[in-house]
Order: sequence, then structure tokens, then C-alpha cells
Amino acid sequence: MNQDTTKHQGKRRQLVEVLKQKGISQAEVLKAIGDIPRHLFLDSSFVDHAYQDKAFPIGAEQTISQPYTVAFQSEQLQLKAGMKVLEIGTGSGYQTAVLCHMGAEVYSIERQHELFRTSLKRLPALGFKPKKLIFGDGYKGFPEQAPFDRIIVTAGAPAVPEALLDQMVVGGIMVIPVGEINQKMTIITRTSNTNFQKLVLGDFRFVPLLEDKN
Ligand code: SAH
Repeated sequence: MNQDTTKHQGKRRQLVEVLKQKGISQAEVLKAIGDIPRHLFLDSSFVDHAYQDKAFPIGAEQTISQPYTVAFQSEQLQLKAGMKVLEIGTGSGYQTAVLCHMGAEVYSIERQHELFRTSLKRLPALGFKPKKLIFGDGYKGFPEQAPFDRIIVTAGAPAVPEALLDQMVVGGIMVIPVGEINQKMTIITRTSNTNFQKLVLGDFRFVPLLEDKN
């Protein structure tokens, strides 16, 4: 059932209301979540739950992030159309789709081959065109296309990877959950070549950002 029906659309409108109540207010973020068929990013066994504000397994022991988390990170990015964005942890590709919908030029890295392959097919099939999906280790970033206006990390990092700091433009923003078991959502702004400003927000729970196994 690879379809988007009025029933799904209705459930999405409800999800958007839930996110608004939880404090998400950026119109472009709410529009993306209202438009994108999240149920088509999940295993068919979870389809009925796709519009609950919950994380779900996507295979390879990974999860699709909770819609609130996706919305929160997307909002914190202060994204503008045309910006060059690096995402670490493509996973299901749902966050990638949100960034594409918001007009970003998206480069996204995934270290699990099965998930990488699935997103490579799924995103274009659903009409999303990231600039490039990369199979590799996000700890290294993507130097070929650096610097990036924005960087979003969707797995819990024990510490902020140095390579990612190096790959930000001056004035760029990185949104990264930092911590071992629970993570603090951390917003890093590059204020000059040598200076970074750090803002630490609330607690979240992500699967871990893992070191390279390739
Ligand atoms: N944005 C995704 C979140 C998936 S969970 C979604 O909404 O579906 C986090 C993802 O990060 C997992 O798919 C995991 O395999 C990936 N990941 C973990 N460590 C990584 C690394 N070092 N480089 C790239 N991807 C990584």
C-alpha cells in the first residue's frame, strides 16, 4: 500500500496540531510535516502508527526519529531555502525529506548500507531530490563539499566531532545531540574562523553516533 490517502492526510493535520501544542511554530517546518507522507518511510507493520509523535524501528537496529524531534531540530537550524546542509544519519530518509521540502541543498551520510540503499531508492520515488546521499562515516563529514551553511546530526554524539566544526561556514549553525545515554540538544554557531558559540537546550534520546566500521 504505497499510497497517501485522505485518511493519512487527516492524521498528518492532527500531528501538526500536536507539534504546535508542543511549541513548534516555524511555518516551513509545520508545512513539511503536514505534507510529507511519514507512513511511507516506515515498515508496513508500523504504518498505522506513523502519525503518532513517536520514534519507530527502521531496521538495522535504528529508529526513525520522533516527529517532535525532527521538527525541533529543523526549527533550530534556522534554515533558508538554497542553503547547503549536511545531515549525519540518513536513517529512513524522513528528516532528509523535511530538509529537501524546506528548500535546502541536502548532503546526507549514512553508515548502515541497508538504510543507505533504501533511502537512495525511496527519496526520489517520493519526489525528494537530495544533492547527494553518501554511504560512509559521518564523523568525517563530507570535505568534498565543505563548507556547509548548516549541519544536522541525527544520532547521539559522545562529543562534537572536530571535522564537522571545520566544515561549517562562518555564521553557520550545527544542531547536534551530545551525550552518551541521554543527549542535550546542542546548537553551535561559528562566529569566526576560530570561534564557536554553544547553546545547550533540552534532553533527547537518540541511537548512538558510531565510529566507522567500514
Ligand atoms: N534522521 C533519521 C534518524 C535515524 S537514527 C530518521 O529520521 O530516520 C540515526 C542514524 O544515524 C542511523 O541510521 C544510524 O545508522 C546513523 N549513524 C550512526 N552513526 C553514524 C555515523 N558515524 N555516520 C553516519 N551515520 C551514522
